Amino acid sequence: TVRTRFAPSPTGMLHIGGARTALFAWLYARHHGGQFVLRIEDTDRERSTDEATEVILDGLKWLGLDWDGEPVFQAARQAEHVVAVDQLIEEGHAYRCYCSKVELDEMREAQRAAGKKPMYDGRCRHRSDRPAGAPFVVRFRSPDEGETIVNDLVLGNVSFPNAELDDLILLRTDGTPTYNLAVVADDAAMGITHVVRGSDHLNNTPRQIQLYQALGLPVPQFAHIPLIHGPDGAKMSKRHGAVAITEYREKGYLPHAVNNYLARLGWSHGDEEVFSREQLIALFDLTQVGKGAARFDQQKLDWLNGHYMREATPAELVDEVARLIGVDIASGPALEPVVASLQERSKNLVELAEGARFFYVAPTTYDEKAVAKNFKEDTHALVEKFIAGIEAMTEFSGEAAHALIAGVCEAEGVGMGKLAQPIRILVSGGPVSPPIDLTLALLGRDESLSRLRRGLQ
Ligand code: GLU
Repeated sequence: TVRTRFAPSPTGMLHIGGARTALFAWLYARHHGGQFVLRIEDTDRERSTDEATEVILDGLKWLGLDWDGEPVFQAARQAEHVVAVDQLIEEGHAYRCYCSKVELDEMREAQRAAGKKPMYDGRCRHRSDRPAGAPFVVRFRSPDEGETIVNDLVLGNVSFPNAELDDLILLRTDGTPTYNLAVVADDAAMGITHVVRGSDHLNNTPRQIQLYQALGLPVPQFAHIPLIHGPDGAKMSKRHGAVAITEYREKGYLPHAVNNYLARLGWSHGDEEVFSREQLIALFDLTQVGKGAARFDQQKLDWLNGHYMREATPAELVDEVARLIGVDIASGPALEPVVASLQERSKNLVELAEGARFFYVAPTTYDEKAVAKNFKEDTHALVEKFIAGIEAMTEFSGEAAHALIAGVCEAEGVGMGKLAQPIRILVSGGPVSPPIDLTLALLGRDESLSRLRRGLQ
């Protein structure tokens, strides 16, 4: 059965490239009814932090990329990595290298002088003068001839001449394993069948394949996902917009809008743009991922987000809106109908939360422009009449409020906007809100009255 993994280094945030890699690995596993597991590559003890691990896991949870089992922490597996290295030494696939930094520098200098690409020449493979107690690294004895072919599900066959791959360091002088060794040992131990990762790792893959072969382990399938570029064709970075997944959350994007967008960033299925989670799982295939870099398109993401804002049920949105409103909502109206009244007109959840906030915090200031435009000589008198009408009501409702506004305006011979807009400004603080009858109904009679009275003072 298919088993994929996501293997982030907890040295920073979860960026959109990483999120897309995780999404593709997750989709592939779910499509095949397989498993998706996590490995936290925390071997860089200085730069790895628990906070970064939390941020990455939170980002995956927010996107709904659920993983199977507990995350594996790579640093905790160091003893197993050393066992793999010992096996390689015993079987003649690896050796101790005692070259000092000075010696290596001289070697490279000589290679450069001879017009060659500097690379380790394997001199310790046959070294007999092993200085007792001297520091050493362990190197892989990589094949000198032939080629190693990466049979990639996305990129096709990519071949690497073995002569260009020098003897890779597996263990450093301090005894810690290096990236390629640890990844191979862990992917094998975790039973990974498909390694899905960014194409920035492609150059490591022939070395990893050689390690699998030397260790007598089955070689998994590989899928290298092309990088994400900004609209200008340069590698995606801060200046192209948000790069951290958490930023998308704070800007009010819906997780599935981000998933749908990221899925289409590199993967396609006909000309379609909108895919539900279930459709993505049903349709996704690594072989339909494009070979070229994908271009980030902010408009398309915003368009998808707008689509999912309209599609969502209010119940799906309330928790995140409550968080983004940022004030206690317990004393105000139920959030669901408030969300329902705003979601059509909101591009994202931040906008929705901003539009909803006045329901929970009475205005203390009023939009000056709106006041100047809508408050005329007769406005006070009109609002007073409306207040009196509400006070006289036995049953308060949106329809009743609407009928009252219409009645007052008709009696005074003015258009409804002459009263409705001042009411809106007084209860919300500004010129935009859901329809005024709905707004008043949601606020309720007492709160509406108190805001109108206070506003007129
Ligand atoms: N830890 C590596 C990274 O963050 C990924 C290694 C892999 O996927 O093989 O780029």
